[in-house]
Amino acid sequence: PRFDERFASRTPRTRALFERAKKTIPGGAGSTARLPRNGWKPYPLFVAEGEGSRLRDVDGNEYIDYLLGLGPMILGHRNPVITRAVSDAVANLGTCFGLPYELEIEAAEKVVAAVPGIDQVRFTNSGSEAVGTAVRLARATTGRRLIVRFEGHYHGWQDTVYWSNHVDPALAGPIENPRPVAMGGGVPTELEDTLVVLNWNDPEALIALMESRGHEIAAVLTEPAVFNTGCILPEPGYLELLREQTTKYGAMLIFDEVITGFRFARGGAQEWFGITADLVTYAKGLGGGFPVAAVAGTREAMRLIADGTYSHSGTYNANVVQCAAVSATMDLLAEPGLYERQRALGDRLATGLETIARDRGVAAHVTGIGTVFQLWFADQKIRNWRDAAAYAREDVFTRWYEEMVLRGVLFHPLQFENLFISLVHTDADIDATLNAADDAMSVIAR
Ligand code: PLP
Repeated sequence: PRFDERFASRTPRTRALFERAKKTIPGGAGSTARLPRNGWKPYPLFVAEGEGSRLRDVDGNEYIDYLLGLGPMILGHRNPVITRAVSDAVANLGTCFGLPYELEIEAAEKVVAAVPGIDQVRFTNSGSEAVGTAVRLARATTGRRLIVRFEGHYHGWQDTVYWSNHVDPALAGPIENPRPVAMGGGVPTELEDTLVVLNWNDPEALIALMESRGHEIAAVLTEPAVFNTGCILPEPGYLELLREQTTKYGAMLIFDEVITGFRFARGGAQEWFGITADLVTYAKGLGGGFPVAAVAGTREAMRLIADGTYSHSGTYNANVVQCAAVSATMDLLAEPGLYERQRALGDRLATGLETIARDRGVAAHVTGIGTVFQLWFADQKIRNWRDAAAYAREDVFTRWYEEMVLRGVLFHPLQFENLFISLVHTDADIDATLNAADDAMSVIAR
């Protein structure tokens, strides 16, 4: 039987809820990323509850969860310490004052202590808001207009950056000189002139641009490792080059650490790669699953926020739920040996999947860093978005996803997303996943 039928036979209640949801929620889910057209076919699972590394759907099916809410559930679902910290703070303090309070300082101090290279932090609500703040702050600070960004990276849904993530390479033109391509309707085309889009992992392209237009550039905005195109790591020296060239031309370097922050090392990509940026954005991972994001930076980079001439405002900025969640999360992430242990667990899964694919004769390889990776169904190395678009076998990935979800292992159904391993996944989870994978891969190989 086809996947849709097998899936439907396990999920009658989910299907009924989806029909009901479509009446009052456009598309039937709260984010476009959850709709069937974005991989969740024939309809998204409806969740009954999560606990630790597991999810249960409304039909009673259980899943080992590598979706992790698209990344935030870094300490597992319903982590008891964070849940208690947040509910105690709300019960004892309140939720939102429009004024500062002590717990906010505590949360900020812990973030600054956890991460290299930053002196100050402002909390906000989502990654998109944090990136929007960083980009505008860079323009205000430098008095320049141009933002450099890269094909295949995703920086949230604001107009200024909603460009050139997964767009048809044919529309973007030659790889040496890609055109910005808006990711959807409603984005003013005039903004095209405020962006330069480059191929990533391409030192010559960056150097050439900086030589010709370096003094017009407000900031270079990058994911320090590209987790919005599967997973693509920076080649040796590339982040160093971004740092060196931005400094040379007086532009700011912005690391969008919405995914990498607190993920595979407590200090995120800045710690892992040993490169520090001027401004850094955080979100997923920062609050252990609660909705909080942050823009952080050096004291110099935060100068206009500090003196009040740049207005970073927001009614819900640094509310009690956020600061309690951040404070408790930072405490838990400080456990000695935690990241080493979980990276080893992730590596065991990644290597195991690669071995299974090889043994079954399926062309696939893993790229990633410990607790976040992707299994690329491709027989060539992927260095950038153009390679991904050309070589990755989305059709094979779909079959892989289908066979795994039917075996109780959940991850994102698209090749250009990735698998997240929380800090509470266990060896038993990995063993069960590898068993399921061996079965699934044998079906794919047929
Ligand atoms: N930046 C990166 C690197 C992201 O991965 C995302 C979300 O996936 C965002 C920004 C936007 O964050 P949010 O969805 O919280 O607005």
